[in-house]
Amino acid sequence: MADTMEKIVSLCKRRGFIFQSSDIYGGLANTWDYGPFGVELKNNVKRAWWKANVYERDDIFGMDAAILMHPKVWEASGHVENFFDLKSDCKSCKKRFKSEDLKTAKVCPECGGELTEARPFNLMFKTHRGVIEDASSVVYLRPETAQGMFVNFANILDSRHPKLPFGIAQIGKAFRNEITPGNFTFRTCEFEQMEIEYFVRPEEADKKLEEWIEAHFNWYIDLGINKDNLRKRPHEKEELAHYARACVDIEYRFPFTTRGAQADGTWSELEGIANRTDFDLAQHSKISGKELQYFDDAAKQKFYPYIIEPSGGVDRTVLAFLVDAFCEEKVKDDIRVVLKLHKDLAPTKVAVLPLLRNRPEIVELARKISRDLKKSMVAVYDDTGAIGKLYRRQDEVGTLYCVTVDVQSLEDNQVTVRDRDTMQQERIGIDRIKEYLLNKLS
Ligand code: ATP
Repeated sequence: MADTMEKIVSLCKRRGFIFQSSDIYGGLANTWDYGPFGVELKNNVKRAWWKANVYERDDIFGMDAAILMHPKVWEASGHVENFFDLKSDCKSCKKRFKSEDLKTAKVCPECGGELTEARPFNLMFKTHRGVIEDASSVVYLRPETAQGMFVNFANILDSRHPKLPFGIAQIGKAFRNEITPGNFTFRTCEFEQMEIEYFVRPEEADKKLEEWIEAHFNWYIDLGINKDNLRKRPHEKEELAHYARACVDIEYRFPFTTRGAQADGTWSELEGIANRTDFDLAQHSKISGKELQYFDDAAKQKFYPYIIEPSGGVDRTVLAFLVDAFCEEKVKDDIRVVLKLHKDLAPTKVAVLPLLRNRPEIVELARKISRDLKKSMVAVYDDTGAIGKLYRRQDEVGTLYCVTVDVQSLEDNQVTVRDRDTMQQERIGIDRIKEYLLNKLS
């Protein structure tokens, strides 16, 4: 288990998916930068999510709110008052623990030392805007993207005139001063969220909650996550956030080995789907003094819609896709490492490789094919090694197809196309190659 996670972290660094932030200065703990393949994978995850949740539906509007918001937003939302974790420090080894992780432990789980009393710790990053650092200049880095959608509820109503049920979707950065960040990109202080606020009639809320849970659970599976590694976990009453009536987490079985891990992995949250009732709109209306009710034309009635909120993390989702796609296969006497990412998520769709890099006609033809493919898909040209090595490198970053140009290609105008997963090879005419690949990718 630990081994798997170590291998994935190492592959991410070696191949350019994820690097330690500020590495040349010794790194900033638990902070990560996405490299050339990482940024493609992350963008593909966000694109797939946006496509399923915005483009393929008639009832969701996209938006992109500012990270900095009026400080009153966080008073109305309850974050200033309630967004605390309880923490204890070990007096001997100085390690810091979330009280909920300590469960019933009375002494430090690391060294057995004495623990301090549990103390509340607000997770919001606070800063100041402008030149004067006083109470009037306080702003927070948003700890969730959700509030940007609640405060724009009336703008969407007035500009797009939707009828219930409808929703707003947003992808963006959020910041939390986590007490125990860790497990690679799973828990960090800066991360991205993909959230939907779906406004419904109160009497429809339970049904819509179920529909969103099903839709989102299936989204992960449709993009290749193994069903056995995914589960739904309803929250216990005492676990619910102050605004929520019900919540179900979609969890993935990560190969983490932190405290509490089972031998077969650790079930950890990818996404929470909650019924937030009318808490948010009623609160913002009360604190801002603005009308945030929905007017039902037919019934001539005003009311606060309930909100169903699917709230997922981009970084955790990317990590789950990486873990799930990571395979080691025995091929003859060797181990082939391959990332079997879904075709919509693979960072590179095709690599064009010359079989002999010292033959200018072959190199020229391969470069020409690659230039042409680049106009229609993410394609790369690579001649930095022998063909076997090039195949292995492309497998490790999940490239779907390798197109090889050889001596024969100069005569018969055909190339060899190799499939990442089956390693089967097929000869295809150069004039048909683009159409052939586009077909496979569609
Ligand atoms: P957890 O219990 O793991 O701290 P949470 O219940 O506080 O998560 P939410 O407030 O429901 O998380 O946030 C919605 C989603 O945002 C989570 O499901 C997760 O995918 C992502 N997320 C939250 N906190 C972090 C973090 N510190 N690092 C990375 N992703 C996060």
